[in-house]
Amino acid sequence: MAQATTVVRHRPVIRRSADAQGALYWLACTCGHLGVEQAARRMAQVDLDQHVLSLPHIPAAQQCRTPHAHDRQAWEPCGLCENQTALFDPAELTGEAR
Ligand SMILES: [Zn+2]
Ligand SMILES: [Zn+2]
Repeated sequence: MAQATTVVRHRPVIRRSADAQGALYWLACTCGHLGVEQAARRMAQVDLDQHVLSLPHIPAAQQCRTPHAHDRQAWEPCGLCENQTALFDPAELTGEAR
C-alpha cells in the first residue's frame, strides 16, 4: 500500500458562542475534530491540549527544526526537514531496507 501523500493539518482553535445563558466554548480543529461545548474557555483549552497530545508522535527524523520558517506545528511532520535528513542513509535510521 502506498502511503497517502495528503497530510491532515491540525490547527486547533477554541470557538465561542454566547447567548442569554452565558458563553460556550469548544475546540474546533481543521482535521474535523470538534470538542464538546464547555462553560469555560479553560476547559476547552484542556480539550485542545488533549487533542494535540492524542496526535501520532512524529519520528525525530520528520520533526521540523525551523517551525516558523516552514510553517509547521510541533505535531506536524516536516517534509522539508525530512528531505534534509535523507541525505543520511535512511536505512540506517529506520533499521530496515526497502
Ligand atoms: Zn486535529
Ligand atoms: Zn522544517
